[in-house]
Amino acid sequence: MEPVLLNVDDDEIGRYARTRFLSRAGFHVLEAGEGLQGLQIARERKPDLILLDVNLPDVDGFEVCRLLRSDPETERIPVIFLTASKLADPDVVEGLEAGADNYLREPVDPDVLIANVRALLRAREAEDALARSNEQLSRFAFVVSHELQEPLRMVKTYSQLLTKKYGAGLEPDALTYLQHTVQGAERMERFIQDMLRYSRISEGDLQTKPTRLEIPIQMALMELDLTIKEHGAIIEYSTMPTIEVDSMRMAQVFRNLIGNAIKYRSETAPAISISAEERSSEFVITVNDNGIGIDPVYSDEIFVLFKRLHGRDKSGSGVGLAICKQIVEQHGGAIWVVSKPGQGSQFCFTLPKASAAHA
Ligand code: ADP
Repeated sequence: MEPVLLNVDDDEIGRYARTRFLSRAGFHVLEAGEGLQGLQIARERKPDLILLDVNLPDVDGFEVCRLLRSDPETERIPVIFLTASKLADPDVVEGLEAGADNYLREPVDPDVLIANVRALLRAREAEDALARSNEQLSRFAFVVSHELQEPLRMVKTYSQLLTKKYGAGLEPDALTYLQHTVQGAERMERFIQDMLRYSRISEGDLQTKPTRLEIPIQMALMELDLTIKEHGAIIEYSTMPTIEVDSMRMAQVFRNLIGNAIKYRSETAPAISISAEERSSEFVITVNDNGIGIDPVYSDEIFVLFKRLHGRDKSGSGVGLAICKQIVEQHGGAIWVVSKPGQGSQFCFTLPKASAAHA
């Protein structure tokens, strides 16, 4: 099927000429002479790309572009500005900041315009293919993890039953083998649960509301109560800001960061402090520990799914920090670590003041 373009321009002659050469190049071209009409056609017909004049009689092109970007139905349609009047560099900046993908100053050679249109359509196609394959991959991970739960439960249950019913009559070696089977099944169970948690985070929508960050911290501390007591961990937190967040997900971020601070402890009892620093447009939240620390070489890698540095001596699946990253980014923030081996770690993440949350 031929790609559909929307050509928005109030200058009839120029618009007609453009439509003609684009049609000859194999595109199906829709037309609009005003901004609002263009918006309406974009919503109804969902063209593959929009060519947008800046000076329009009703709403200016920059505003049309912002409106396109703020509507989930049209936010991903590529937009090229074409203008003969707004030619200064600040205009180009404003157009691109409004969400356009390109800004061309007239006169534009027809072949150059066609090549630009094709390049943007190719980029969008590649992006769509990537999104589709990512979606399939997470679906696959979810289904596999989900389906593995039941057979695994059987392996574990029957191994436990064997130990309980016949353990007394078994040779010591056989008993050890059975114990290994149960331990292996339990490790796999934890891994699958982490995978499922990760899949769910990727899929569900955020439920945000203004929340005092003390609340998710306290939720995390409640969940970690046993571990905290077991290791005599001391956790302090300063007064926290109220931010528009999904409190359940934020609690997961704190649970993973505090849980890790305890898991990767040094010889001394874990001492963890959580603080918030206000900046002009965001808050920086820091979780500071006195644990074994991390070689800065791995500062980025540890946030990648399944990446583990201390895999042998500590249980885990390398999913915790990937979940933190996912959740923080869903809230429009970023996460990083500052650390050195033997000197504890500082995990920091930002949360924008104005809600930039997206699922
Ligand atoms: P997991 O704990 O299951 O291995 P994570 O994604 O939570 O997975 O962490 C990834 C890796 O980052 C861990 O294996 C560990 O090597 C390192 N790490 C995470 N938190 C800390 C910490 N507070 N101190 C030292 N190392 C840490």
